[in-house]
Amino acid sequence: MRIAQVSAHTSPLAPLGGRETGGMNVYVLELSRELARLGYEIDIFTRRDADLPRVETIAPNLRLIRVEAGPPEPVEKEAIIDFLPDFARDMRRFVHEDGRGYDAIHSHYWQSGWAGGHLARALDVPHLVMFHTLGEVKNRARFGEQEPKKRIRHERQIVRRASAIVTASSHERELLERYYAADHGKIHTIPCGVDLERFRPSDRAAARKKLGLPLGAPVLLWVGRLEKLKGVDILISAVAQLDASDFTLLIVGGDDRADALKAELRGQAEAEGVAKNIRFIGAVKHEDLPDYYSAADVCVVPSYYESFGLVAVEAMACGTPVVASRVGGLISTVTDGVTGYLIPWRCPEPFAEKLEVLLTNPELRANFSRAAQKSVERFAWRRVALQMASLYDRVLAEHRSRGGVAGEGARFGKEAWEAALLAGGIR
Ligand code: UDP
Repeated sequence: MRIAQVSAHTSPLAPLGGRETGGMNVYVLELSRELARLGYEIDIFTRRDADLPRVETIAPNLRLIRVEAGPPEPVEKEAIIDFLPDFARDMRRFVHEDGRGYDAIHSHYWQSGWAGGHLARALDVPHLVMFHTLGEVKNRARFGEQEPKKRIRHERQIVRRASAIVTASSHERELLERYYAADHGKIHTIPCGVDLERFRPSDRAAARKKLGLPLGAPVLLWVGRLEKLKGVDILISAVAQLDASDFTLLIVGGDDRADALKAELRGQAEAEGVAKNIRFIGAVKHEDLPDYYSAADVCVVPSYYESFGLVAVEAMACGTPVVASRVGGLISTVTDGVTGYLIPWRCPEPFAEKLEVLLTNPELRANFSRAAQKSVERFAWRRVALQMASLYDRVLAEHRSRGGVAGEGARFGKEAWEAALLAGGIR
């Protein structure tokens, strides 16, 4: 089976920890790798944002296709919308040149969903979409988030037209039904995966030595794309309330586009008297992260929202307990009081309280650590890929039994779609 994965705004090969390079990049690459190992032929389509070849072979059965749409340089995610018609057109061009076609299109994030939907209708194959984040949900998660109405309008349309919607958690499924009136039967929940070879427990003292961290004092860890929705402000205020004064908080992630937020957080840390305890490490390669997870006593995920929250799962795979917000996917990955703690309020005090409990209780940490390692076995990529593969089979069979393009798209012929694409663009 040949599957096109669409990741329009960000390449799965881009360095992680930037403003727009995190969980989705890991997801698209690792899922594709595993499907390719299972014998699926996978092409990942991404916008060409540098002077790099059109086709790059990543592994047997797995290629990256760079699509011509807009300038060959990084562009703000919000601006990519203007290039989506070109993106869809150039994907078509590639499919035509390549001559082999696809059995299904699987799009990631709404922009890819727009372009991938066009390709699926043009090729008359099923379209699966995974949103990773949703505009309506972001707007509700944090005061001050203002995702454009246009995004939400397109998300609604993609939800209506898709053959299937994949969510990483049952919570996201509920949100799609509640805010997007998504058809329950069309949504399939398949968790994200974690590389259990890479993320596994290792010696804490050795990891601390390697990272130049003190052996005898508490180490707390935060990892992610440095953006406001991640709640690092809550974490800084929480650590300011700890009894210990010799702890270190490592903030991993963020490129130069996060400088303004970093300065704001530094200012906050100064004001709260914990600047000397906090180290801003910047982005760290995925393969180097296990040392950070192993060095830490606790990994904190204080996000206002997380659709899945890979960081929590990676930490648990390394045997590090997690203190996380009780939001989104974290509700189904962290078991409160067993593998970590889930905090229902987005405020520092309860975070501080649970951090204090864990930091002062090594035996509890050891118990949580054992339970955490065990709990993530279900997220092995092989398991996730097999579930996805069986969804592809099912969706393809349904599509064929219906005799082709379903839903609203069926009212339009291929040519009509093509004409609309060329004439109308995206508004
Ligand atoms: N990550 C990384 N280096 C960094 C920061 C983050 O490799 O400096 C990775 C992290 O290990 C995880 C992903 O980026 O795999 C973040 O995924 P998560 O689901 O936690 O957050 P998202 O990016 O989806 O909001």
